Amino acid sequence: MSDCLFCKMVAGDIKPDVVFEDDAVLAFRDVNPQAPTHVLVIPKRHIATTNDLDAASADVVGKLYLAAKQIAADEGIAGPGYRMVMNCNPGAGQSVYHLHLHLLGGRPMHWPPG
Ligand code: AMP
Repeated sequence: MSDCLFCKMVAGDIKPDVVFEDDAVLAFRDVNPQAPTHVLVIPKRHIATTNDLDAASADVVGKLYLAAKQIAADEGIAGPGYRMVMNCNPGAGQSVYHLHLHLLGGRPMHWPPG
């Protein structure tokens, strides 16, 4: 989508701080980190929200989690622990309407998340 910020990153028009990339997934550091490690893991294909997931997108969702697992290991947070979050729609605080998995770690995480 031409007006989507994260699609522009996939296209190379905007250059984030990339930490992982393969054929289906791009991962980069959040510009406003909420933890020492805060990485966004996105599908290269545009999917707006988790409400738009279907059987055809199940494969890429698995790839997001596998990439996040690898990044967590690379960042040294796999052992201490980390949090993975997908916000859906305004009530959950979604601000960019291209599916993304937040990978957060490097500090204690609290529950409930607020
Ligand atoms: P959400 O609020 O769940 O939609 O998350 C969107 C995330 O994108 C926020 O954590 C923002 O800080 C992050 N973000 C927005 N613009 C950029 C950017 N240009 N580069 C990296 N992260 C961004």
